[in-house]
Amino acid sequence: MRSSAGLQFNEPLCRHTRIGIGGPAALLARAHTPVDVRDAVTLCREKGWPLMMLGRGSNLLVPDEGFQGCMLKLAGDLSEIVIDTRNGIVKAGGGASLMGLGLLLARQGYPGCTYMGVIPGSVGGAVRMNAGIAGAQAIEKNFLRALALDPATGEIVTLEKNELGFGYRTSCLAACPLIILEAVFRLPQETVPAQETLRDLQALLRKRHGAQPRCYRTFGSTFKNPPGPLRPAGWYLEQVGMQGMRINRAMVAREHANWILNTGGATSAAVAELMRIGRTRVFEQFGVHLAEEVVVVPPSAPAMPN
Ligand SMILES: Cc1cc2nc3c(=O)[nH]c(=O)nc-3n(C[C@H](O)[C@H](O)[C@H](O)COP(=O)(O)OP(=O)(O)OC[C@H]3O[C@@H](n4cnc5c(N)ncnc54)[C@H](O)[C@@H]3O)c2cc1C
Repeated sequence: MRSSAGLQFNEPLCRHTRIGIGGPAALLARAHTPVDVRDAVTLCREKGWPLMMLGRGSNLLVPDEGFQGCMLKLAGDLSEIVIDTRNGIVKAGGGASLMGLGLLLARQGYPGCTYMGVIPGSVGGAVRMNAGIAGAQAIEKNFLRALALDPATGEIVTLEKNELGFGYRTSCLAACPLIILEAVFRLPQETVPAQETLRDLQALLRKRHGAQPRCYRTFGSTFKNPPGPLRPAGWYLEQVGMQGMRINRAMVAREHANWILNTGGATSAAVAELMRIGRTRVFEQFGVHLAEEVVVVPPSAPAMPN
């Protein structure tokens, strides 16, 4: 770290998650440059602390007891976006806003990227999650390569698309926690008038706002849709009566049974219990296993190897 200004000890993670839930991280570090990231990794290795990336916290369920380690957030240079029309690419820092990237591309008239403009979170988080919307509109579609720091060695490596192991709302980063510093996306070859792309973006936003609860805090979809010809996760959860179920201040949305809401002061334990009930009921009644889409943060994790 360039200075201790980027370090916050005992920082409540409810301030950094979209659902507004989560106890304190022993340390929250903000890295503005690749050197800062390397410094944070070295610090964790020296202290024997576990390290986990925190994007914009849109898809995280953090336990009430918090995280006994370092949460690392990218900012500054690592959240910049640069369009390079000569090479037909756009480079975005891992900490950049995905919605900001989608809006920028829509303003420049690049078609086919509007899905980016409606998904909350950072570019690094979106690569890790292969974030996307229904249909084939996911990060892997435009992704070319990424620069990543390997916390095990401190080296910066280039990862080509075929090395990311993209799958439905996942990538190889789920098992191999490399830190995405920058992602490079291919720009569509042709542009169209910006009014068209901005209109598409607004239409998509309106469609989503019509179907999703807007006034509570949430992490979006709780479970992934089961594969193959099966119905969406939300359909099964509706059939087993999860809509509107509450445990203290946590509630399954009435509009969308695959969303859990924090109606104000909900605990992580209550959310986890709603998830357990929904998953168990669906398995018992339909024999369908619902896999988590939300990333459930463990209270601790293995320390960084020395
Ligand atoms: C209202 C709402 C709507 C949503 N709609 C959608 C949707 O339509 N489609 C969809 O796919 N998702 C959706 N989500 C979920 C969420 O927006 C995505 O999963 C998003 O990509 C998470 O990004 P993040 O930066 O917030 O990551 P976080 O939630 O902070 O972290 C998610 C994972 O990414 C890892 N990570 C974060 N940054 C990095 C990095 N730089 N390098 C390596 N790993 C990293 C974290 O360690 C964690 O494992 C929605 C969420 C909300 C709240």
